[in-house]
Amino acid sequence: MPPGERHETCLLCAAERITPWYHEDDVCWIADCEICATPMVVWRWHGTDVPMDDHRHMMDRLAAVAGEVFDGHYVDDNMRNIPDHYHAHARPRGGFFGHGFRRSTPAGNGDGEGS
Ligand SMILES: [Zn+2]
Ligand SMILES: [Zn+2]
Repeated sequence: MPPGERHETCLLCAAERITPWYHEDDVCWIADCEICATPMVVWRWHGTDVPMDDHRHMMDRLAAVAGEVFDGHYVDDNMRNIPDHYHAHARPRGGFFGHGFRRSTPAGNGDGEGS
């Protein structure tokens, strides 16, 4: 059965533009996650059974957006809040955004917490 279903009560299906959108196409859209304030790619269709091509497409698009937002990032596709609709966050490498994220020590010397 092809994708195409949308759920009335699903936040991601509703796709409310409450945060800035970076990207939108036939497969996915990318916006700042309301909760984490990091870019998040969301599949157009309700479900987690994402075809390989769509998945690759989403990872490409997310990487492009994240590359402009962060110096380095990793993809977190752990769907804690909405487990039945595929989405993935790009998070800054080295920490959660807003929770200790900073580029204080560029090289070596991992312990920069003086005094
Ligand atoms: Zn989030
Ligand atoms: Zn949904």
